[in-house]
Amino acid sequence: MGLAKMTTSNLSPAEITRYARQMAVPEWGREAQERVKSAQVLIAGAGGVAATAALHLLAGGLGALRLVDGSRVGLSDLYHHLFFRERDLGKAKATVSEPYLKEVNPFALVETKAKTISKFNISRLTAGCHLIIDAMHNSLAGFLLNQAAVKLRLPMVQAWGWEMHGCLTTYWPGQGPCLACAYPQLSLGSPPALMGPLPGILGSLQALEALRILGGLGPALLGRQLTFRGDRFQMLEKSIKLNPQCHVCRHLKG
Ligand SMILES: [Zn+2]
Repeated sequence: MGLAKMTTSNLSPAEITRYARQMAVPEWGREAQERVKSAQVLIAGAGGVAATAALHLLAGGLGALRLVDGSRVGLSDLYHHLFFRERDLGKAKATVSEPYLKEVNPFALVETKAKTISKFNISRLTAGCHLIIDAMHNSLAGFLLNQAAVKLRLPMVQAWGWEMHGCLTTYWPGQGPCLACAYPQLSLGSPPALMGPLPGILGSLQALEALRILGGLGPALLGRQLTFRGDRFQMLEKSIKLNPQCHVCRHLKG
């Protein structure tokens, strides 16, 4: 299901009051808010980046969110993840996250899945979604998510962090490059060391980009990869081009 097929749904009076200041932003408005309410997003990951993106999307009026992550809370999550406590060690991240996400917005539908993304469940996980947020920093999951994005022509906003830095970009098969245009090969590695506030920075930017796309403003980061350098507080940028020979998306016409 592409964005063009999204239907608008009416905001309730309570939602109109809740989002009045956001709807007063000149580039935004009520129509954008209605579109966001009618949208469903898949968030891949339940780590710090994913949790931040999820909170802002739900608080900002997203209609439906599906969050998937098969991993469990470990000690190394506690210093940067604002949901997790010591009592949660060993529990599924998605399950622990669910009550926090559900209480953010009573108008939203929230589903969490404590599952590892695989070729067997990727179709079910992406069904009905209008946008994918990849916040897993997992090359294999990214590969599967990208295949689904190509099949369904969905925008995918991806972010990952390491040390003091973070990268952010938007792929949109049919509109611009896909993940495999930029990274044709899988590169598997262990989770990097990173500073605690970085997931919040990256997740917030992902949510802003997702709201822009869902609200009809269009992507800001299609074909662009931003790198936040936390050692210098600089934003660097490089372009990501559609690869006409891409082994995943070359059959699509832009
Ligand atoms: Zn491609």
